[in-house]
Amino acid sequence: MKLLDQKVTLITGASRGIGRGMALELAKQGSSVAFTYLSSPDKAAELEKELSTFGIKAKGYKSDASDFKAAEELIAAVLNDFGRIDVVVNNAGITRDNLLMRMSEEHFDEVIRTNLKSVFNITKAVQKSMLKERKGSIINISSVVGVKGNAGQANYAASKAGIIGFTKSIALELGSRNIRCNAIAPGFIETEMTAVLNPDVVKQWREAIPLKRGGTPEDVANLVVFLASDMSSYITGQVINVDGGMLT
Ligand code: NAP
Repeated sequence: MKLLDQKVTLITGASRGIGRGMALELAKQGSSVAFTYLSSPDKAAELEKELSTFGIKAKGYKSDASDFKAAEELIAAVLNDFGRIDVVVNNAGITRDNLLMRMSEEHFDEVIRTNLKSVFNITKAVQKSMLKERKGSIINISSVVGVKGNAGQANYAASKAGIIGFTKSIALELGSRNIRCNAIAPGFIETEMTAVLNPDVVKQWREAIPLKRGGTPEDVANLVVFLASDMSSYITGQVINVDGGMLT
């Protein structure tokens, strides 16, 4: 008997990075996994194959999380294929970093749409089926940057802070129906998103982390497994950092 046997999880943006790490850990614990991607069909196909080796049902869907109608179609397709959605991880995200002086309106809007509006799109589309089941766990991936701010990331920080307000509000709205909603605030996690950063900046980040290392997708995935499981059944409305102590 595994921790997540019989559960069905939907993860947005799992073709790479943290989302991919989550998909693998959830599958290892027995959860079936539906996941989305946007521009990496080969990586998505590879992941689908790898997930199936854990003896669970797995399927990747090409779907733009920032598109409201696409989110409705995605949830309908996943419900049709899997029968139920117990856990949603709103993970898809992008950065378009620049100082405010040089930040374009387009890059501000793109980050808000992909990182924040996507959480509204997917959560709104899935809530009806979770209400019917009278249970659910919604896990939103925020960031320490949404708590603390970061120069050069006003768009990203605003999107991640918005996720925290959204998470707490949904926890209040849906708690009486046994639907939990929590946010995870990762610190510096080594993925393609952070691989583009200036090495001097990365060195500074590492030195400022009490555990003296960047995190891995598995570090975040372990908390996702816990929040997806019934072991966290009395936890809702929380923002939990996975940051090596960065914000301490
Ligand atoms: P990543 O390696 O760049 O991967 C991003 C993933 O999101 C990819 O699978 C990508 O899919 C998907 N994606 C992007 N736009 C999408 C859209 N519109 N619709 C659907 N999928 C979309 O990033 P990561 O580091 O794993 O980050 C994952 C999440 O953690 C993000 O929300 C990020 O903000 C958050 N986070 C990351 C860190 C960190 O240090 N890495 C820290 C704090 C929070 P395709 O490749 O198919 O386009």
